[in-house]
Amino acid sequence: MAKTTEAEIRAALTTISAPDGGDIVGRGMVQGLVLREGHVGFSIEVDPALGAQLEPLRKAAEAAVMKLPGVLSVTAVLTAHKGAGAAQPPRQPAQAGRAAPSGAATGRPSGAKALVPGVKHIIAIASGKGGVGKSTTATNLALAFTTLGLKVGLLDADIYGPSQPRLMGLSGRPESRDGKTLEPKVNFGVKVMSMGFIVEEDTPMIWRGPMVMSAITQLLREVNWGELDILVCDLPPGTGDAQLTMAQSVPLSGAVIVSTPQDIALLDAKKGLNMFRKVDVPVLGIIENMSYFSCPNCGHRTEIFAHGGAKREAEKSGVEFLGDIPLDMQIRETSDEGRPIVASDPTSAHALAYGEIAAKIWNKLAQSTQRAAPRIVLQ
Ligand code: ADP
Repeated sequence: MAKTTEAEIRAALTTISAPDGGDIVGRGMVQGLVLREGHVGFSIEVDPALGAQLEPLRKAAEAAVMKLPGVLSVTAVLTAHKGAGAAQPPRQPAQAGRAAPSGAATGRPSGAKALVPGVKHIIAIASGKGGVGKSTTATNLALAFTTLGLKVGLLDADIYGPSQPRLMGLSGRPESRDGKTLEPKVNFGVKVMSMGFIVEEDTPMIWRGPMVMSAITQLLREVNWGELDILVCDLPPGTGDAQLTMAQSVPLSGAVIVSTPQDIALLDAKKGLNMFRKVDVPVLGIIENMSYFSCPNCGHRTEIFAHGGAKREAEKSGVEFLGDIPLDMQIRETSDEGRPIVASDPTSAHALAYGEIAAKIWNKLAQSTQRAAPRIVLQ
């Protein structure tokens, strides 16, 4: 079968006109192009003011690439960044993967500070599919970071099914002191923002490409996060457009993948790994959740699923295995009651396990910051 190259995809996209003249490639609007085995993904940076009006442009861009020989699927997402977009000159390919890469973990130039002032590191907690305990892990890790003495925020980027309000025992609408930025809600020493504060938890939400980006932009940049050492970002489950958009648009220092031991979940976890690699976000490691069953009565450990799959997968993929968390009633009950185990029973073995994982993640972030060479900023 004929294979399409990135150059051919870019050439096809030059046929799509930019809203204010020229074509979308020439105007530097096409970002983060990925091509793998016939599957193509990219984002189109647009002026946030135009937002949803540009849906036809997005569709036309997808259609133009779909026509190329050997292309099996095309996913284009509209992204809107303040101050970015159509007016910018084309970027160099090496920078094209992400709108504002964080240099901390990678030695790349850091745009994180410019985008989210005062926030040192943003990490994504991701999973290949739903129900693996990603949100529970994000909550407990956020709390575990506070026990390391860090200033912590928790951004619930799972706009499809926000669960952080429930997990963190928070509710009600966020306040705004200046009418522009929202105040995060705080519990257990963690600043939290979630679409769940703005929209009722049970309301079904249908998000289209441009809306995903503007929702995330608001949750990230229009919230008064203040000074944070780490902002933990609970991504929606899966590896679809929304995740790709977020991975490309949020200045992530790294990603953590949560997986259960079942093979099927691991296959999904692998997709997660690949997604972050494609968009040049370092994967900090894999956590195996619901790894084994610890009996609440006798403490006996039963490995219901083939325990250790995530570890093997991590080793095979050259990614650090960060640790395992058992399937445990107390973890589920405390989560459902809005008093996560790290806060409600901080000396329990499970809380300590989250603590160990958090320490590993933080050390990795801190080490890579130290390793990064002095930055030369070209203005
Ligand atoms: P996801 O974010 O991946 O969809 P959640 O964090 O919402 O998953 O977890 C799904 C369900 O599994 C929740 O009811 C949660 O309380 C439960 N759960 C998550 N991790 C554990 C665990 N280690 N032990 C027991 N229950 C867990």
